Amino acid sequence: MTQKTHLYDLDFPALTHFVTELGEPKFRARQIWNWLYTQYVADVSEMANLPKELRVRLATAVSLNTGKIVVKQESSDNQTSKVLFQLPDGQYIETVLMKYAKRRTLCISTQAGCAMGCVFCATGQMGFFRNLTSGEIVQQVLYFARELAAEGEHVTNIVMMGMGEPLHNYDQTLTAVDRLITTDGFNLGARKITISTVGLVPAIRRYAAEGRQTPLAVSLHAATDEERNKLIPVNKRWPIAELLDACREYVIKTGRRITFEWALINGENDTLDQAHALGSLLKGLICHVNLIPLNPTEGYGGRPSSREQVDAFQAALASYGVSSTVRVRRGIDIQAGCGQLRDRHTIELRRKLPKDSIQS
Ligand code: SAH
Ligand code: SF4
Repeated sequence: MTQKTHLYDLDFPALTHFVTELGEPKFRARQIWNWLYTQYVADVSEMANLPKELRVRLATAVSLNTGKIVVKQESSDNQTSKVLFQLPDGQYIETVLMKYAKRRTLCISTQAGCAMGCVFCATGQMGFFRNLTSGEIVQQVLYFARELAAEGEHVTNIVMMGMGEPLHNYDQTLTAVDRLITTDGFNLGARKITISTVGLVPAIRRYAAEGRQTPLAVSLHAATDEERNKLIPVNKRWPIAELLDACREYVIKTGRRITFEWALINGENDTLDQAHALGSLLKGLICHVNLIPLNPTEGYGGRPSSREQVDAFQAALASYGVSSTVRVRRGIDIQAGCGQLRDRHTIELRRKLPKDSIQS
C-alpha cells in the first residue's frame, strides 16, 4: 500500500502540487485549503464543494489523522482544558487551552518528550522520543480552533510551551508557524505566537537573523552559571554570558522586547542574591521577566516559593529597572504543567498493563 499524504504537512504550494498530481484543477487546492484552515474540518467527507468522486479518492490518498484523544480534562473553574493526544505511532503529546478574559491561548507541543533534561520539568524527566512534524504541531491548534468555533470563539494566542524544545526542532516548528500565520489561511498574527526556548544559542542567532516577528521567550531560571548548571544541563554547553549575547543580538536585530521565564523554586533560585544577579544581568536590555512559582513534579523535590519571597524577588528586580509579572500556574488541578498529564496517564497505564507494552 502506498503511504498516505498527511495534508496538514503541506503548505499551499505543496498542496497545489499534490492536487495537480492527482489530475485535478489547481482551484481544488484553494478549496481544500479553506476547508482545513478556515473551516477546520477534520474529515475529507465534510469538504462539501468537492465532487463526491474526488472526496472518495482523497479519502484513500490522504490522512488527516494526526492522533486520537486519550485523555481530556477540564479544570474545576472551566478556564483550562487539556488534551493528551496519542499519535499514530503511539507517542503522547499534550495541548492546553487557557481562557482568560477575551484571550483564548493555546499551549502546544513541538516534540514528544524533550532531550534537554531540565531537572524541574516533567517533560525533561521523561526524556526525548521524537520531533513532531509541522502537521502534528498545526493539528493541535486546529483541534481547539474547531472546538472554539463551535462556541463562536477563536484562538487568539499560541505559546510553544507544551512538551519539547521548539528550537531543537527548528524547521518543523517554524514551518508550522508559517502555516498558521498565512493570511489567506489560518491567519493568526505572527506577534500572537510565542516561541519559548531553553537557550539554544546558535538557534537563537538564526532566529534573530531571520528577523522573525514571533515573540521569543527564554527560560533563564538562574542568573549564575553555578545555579543554572544545576537546573538546566544545556547551560554547560551555552553558559549565561553566551546566551545573553545571543539575546542582545535578537533584540538589536528585531527591535523586539525579549521575555525571560523564571520558575521560582523555594530556597534555590528565589534568593535575593539571584534577584540582584539577574537585575545586573538584564539592566538596560529591552526585556520583561515572567516569574512563575514552580509547579511541583514527581521527579523533582523542589517546592514553589512563598508569596513573600516572590514579592521580595520582584522588588529587588525592580530596583534595576527590570519589569516583571508574577504568573499564576493555571490548571494545576488537571496537571496542566508541561508534561504532567502524559506522566500521570502513563503511570496509570503502567499500573494496568504489563511493563513492556508501554512505549517510553
Ligand atoms: N522547552 C521550552 C518550552 C517548553 S517548557 C523551554 O524550556 O522554554 C515551557 C516553560 O515551562 C519553560 O519556561 C519551562 O522552564 C517551564 N517549566 C517547565 N517545568 C516547569 C515547572 N515544573 N514549573 C514551572 N515552570 C516549568
Ligand atoms: Fe525541555 Fe523546556 Fe522541559 Fe527544559 S523546560 S526539559 S527545555 S521542555
